[in-house]
Amino acid sequence: MAHNPILIAGGGIGGVTTALALALRQIPVILFEQATEFTDVGAGIQLSPNCSRVLCALGLTQELAEQGFLPQYALFRHWRSGKIISESSLGKSAEEIFGAPYYHIHRSDLLNMLVGAAKAQPLIQLKLNSRIESSEETDAGVRVVVNGETFIGRGLIGADGIHSKVRENLFGKQSPTFTGNVAWRALVPTNSLPKNLIQPAATAWWGPGKHFVHYYVQGGAMVNCVCVVESKTWQEESWSIKGHFADLAAEFANWHPTITTLLKNLDETKLYKWGLFDRPPMNQWSIGKTTLLGDACHPTLPFMAQGAAMAIEDAAVIASCLHQQQDVAAAFLQYEKLRKERTAMIQQLSRRNARVFHLKGIAAWARNRAAKRAGGSTMKKLYGYDALSAVKKAKTGENK
Ligand SMILES: Cc1cc2nc3c(=O)[nH]c(=O)nc-3n(C[C@H](O)[C@H](O)[C@H](O)COP(=O)(O)OP(=O)(O)OC[C@H]3O[C@@H](n4cnc5c(N)ncnc54)[C@H](O)[C@@H]3O)c2cc1C
Repeated sequence: MAHNPILIAGGGIGGVTTALALALRQIPVILFEQATEFTDVGAGIQLSPNCSRVLCALGLTQELAEQGFLPQYALFRHWRSGKIISESSLGKSAEEIFGAPYYHIHRSDLLNMLVGAAKAQPLIQLKLNSRIESSEETDAGVRVVVNGETFIGRGLIGADGIHSKVRENLFGKQSPTFTGNVAWRALVPTNSLPKNLIQPAATAWWGPGKHFVHYYVQGGAMVNCVCVVESKTWQEESWSIKGHFADLAAEFANWHPTITTLLKNLDETKLYKWGLFDRPPMNQWSIGKTTLLGDACHPTLPFMAQGAAMAIEDAAVIASCLHQQQDVAAAFLQYEKLRKERTAMIQQLSRRNARVFHLKGIAAWARNRAAKRAGGSTMKKLYGYDALSAVKKAKTGENK
């Protein structure tokens, strides 16, 4: 089927996955990325079954299995004693229950995999060094001018991240809010650590005013660490800057020896600090033939490891909607309707976790007791969602 392409602003995980999902439905795409190469800031990412299901359907099953790490379980632990607060199975059992695997992966491995698949797709044109500043809706679709060249598409998808220019053009400038949390991101070579110090698990250590997450990436060669610390201000101009080891070590000085050992062995040249910013759920995502996707419309705090997962789910749903109907504006409205409730729920639960993970004293004790009983239903809600059949299931009221 030959017709004008869909234009995508942004070549992050959300934009490139969307390009692939559309091409698989025989819809041509031009994707514009402002950077001179495809890169992702930060180290690891957790891919839960709700998004690995989509990636597998895009033909990436084999590459995910080769480059991802399959954690056996998820653990929450006490920051000082190391006591296990709650444990749930991942590994084979997650795949059996949810129909898709749970992986940990290095972000650049994931992005390279997606970009490699996109480059092999004749229906996808990837344009680097191409920043979209503005767009104009016409009878034929949407027109953008990039580096002096004009492109016309049937529609425009803004997958251009939390600072989205497409969002600003649609709905005006609204600055995101600093959440009072700073995330440090680091990698530790596994061969620098005592054997078996780190279990094959997604582990989160809860402490007063901070928490520490670690898991294996690069087939187990590296341990990815995300260390979140409360902070009243974030004064740096950039949201992501090099961090100083001494500052991070001081934050976790009196924590369990596993944490202090991890910190002693981290690769200081790859230590980054990242101010965590937030926006409330949006009432409206689309105007006419332009819509938003991923962090551009629902930036999600990392406390459920679901931000990229939501962008990947969006990609599958928007591709189904555009496949089903020729009218782009109607397809975008259908997509928005199908995705708004779920992404808002995840945004809000992630925000809540920002408080819950950092509780102190008696409140922390009560949380730990409750955590033992919770888990199963949240996992079902998160990981059981099937974005591939969301359009079909919406008719019968399933998949909520
Ligand atoms: C510490 C931390 C840990 C996280 N861990 C997880 C996790 O384990 N699992 C998970 O699912 N999520 C996680 N997330 C969230 C996840 O990283 C994001 O939700 C996800 O990367 C968003 O992808 P995106 O493609 O929507 O946006 P982005 O990754 O921000 O990509 C946007 C792209 O658009 C480009 N761009 C911007 N403006 C323009 C323009 N005007 N024209 C052209 N190009 C443009 C940018 O250069 C960029 O490449 C984490 C986040 C943080 C901060």
